[in-house]
Amino acid sequence: MQQPETFFVKTYGCQMNELDSEIMIGQLEQRGMTRTEDESAADLLIFNTCSIRDLAERKVMGKLGRLGRRTQNKAIIGITGCMANAKKSSLFEKLPNVDFILGTNNIHDLNTILDEVIATQMPAIRTDDHFEHELNYLIAKRDDKVKAHVSIIRGCDKFCTYCVVPYTRGSEVSRHPDSIVEECVQLAGNGYREITLLGQNVNSYGKDKPEWAALFHDLLYRLDKIEGIERIRFMTSHPVDITRELMEAIRDLKSMCEFVHFPLQAGSNRILKKMHRIYTVEEYMEKVALLREIVPGVTLGTDIIVGFPTETEEEFQQTFDRLKEIEYSTAFVYTYSPRKGTPAMRWKDDIPEEVKQERLQRLLKMQEEISAKQRQEFLGQEVEILVEHENFKNKTLLKGRTRCWKNVLFPGGPQLIGTLQRVKIHSYSNQTLLGDLVDR
Ligand code: SF4
Repeated sequence: MQQPETFFVKTYGCQMNELDSEIMIGQLEQRGMTRTEDESAADLLIFNTCSIRDLAERKVMGKLGRLGRRTQNKAIIGITGCMANAKKSSLFEKLPNVDFILGTNNIHDLNTILDEVIATQMPAIRTDDHFEHELNYLIAKRDDKVKAHVSIIRGCDKFCTYCVVPYTRGSEVSRHPDSIVEECVQLAGNGYREITLLGQNVNSYGKDKPEWAALFHDLLYRLDKIEGIERIRFMTSHPVDITRELMEAIRDLKSMCEFVHFPLQAGSNRILKKMHRIYTVEEYMEKVALLREIVPGVTLGTDIIVGFPTETEEEFQQTFDRLKEIEYSTAFVYTYSPRKGTPAMRWKDDIPEEVKQERLQRLLKMQEEISAKQRQEFLGQEVEILVEHENFKNKTLLKGRTRCWKNVLFPGGPQLIGTLQRVKIHSYSNQTLLGDLVDR
């Protein structure tokens, strides 16, 4: 096996995986390798996988199966990400063409495992259950020039009964605030204007390290002071950990965007309990009301699962009613699918697929009605846009986002990319708002 010169990385799943890929790309470039988008020409193929849903896993397995056996394909093949942790060495049995398996907590070992595979010509595996902060975040190679993801906490301690994350990413480990600030200062110096703080549950930040005396809102106050960072977002949250202090930080800090991902998951207390979400609908609604009182105009996003085992029509209706009442600006709605290794696997997946689909469609239809009404309310409004890039189809248009995460297209030149602009909305096309620069 030769020293590989070129590499190809394919990322599946969430923003955490995208950031891990950016770090791995940085590591490989530091090694002197060149990235290619041509999978068939690469000496090293990395598939950074996702286990959150059955479909995501099946996609990866299908893709890797099609790559053929190692004897027919000279490229070194590595599987990283959540599937690596979830399936460990059993992947070698199913996919004999795979050369190494690197778990989510071992990203820093990428070059070592690659050297090992080349030297021994044997498959290698590293899948630690716990994350140690040995990762050099500063070498992440980002394609985006305006917005950056920044990891602040890895893992999750909540153990929702349907979710594999606590098993694939391990328990919560916060990153030292000085290290986060250092990265954000560097990003600002490199022209980045927006950062999204990432973690499975960012609101838990700092709880595992009481000696730092720095919780999530404390971190936000530090980051807000960084010159050049115009916007701060975060992803994702658990309702239980959304505190009054966090709400006040969103209200008081100039860079904090007034958008909170506030995943409801279900509108029935019995189902929430079965999901081990550790809040009731009443507690959730109280928090939403408090957030709206403290941060007027705040917009909310949510995740919802329909067809959880034993969910009745009446319980689904409770979810539907909450979605209608709260009027989220974005809603990610999924049908339940059982995940191996989770507590929910022990319950029969008893809601027929057609019932799940019918419930899903009802929620999506209601959300579309809400979104249409919200788009209508934007007409004639002036909004602040961070200009991200030229529109892919029509280069005379620029694409940016509002503080509340809405896509906006408007005419303008590339010199505006990376700046904040005022745009007056005059119409919309599908989900995208259309407008013109103000005071041009
Ligand atoms: S909070 Fe629940 S759904 Fe979110 S990552 Fe943790 S276990 Fe999974």
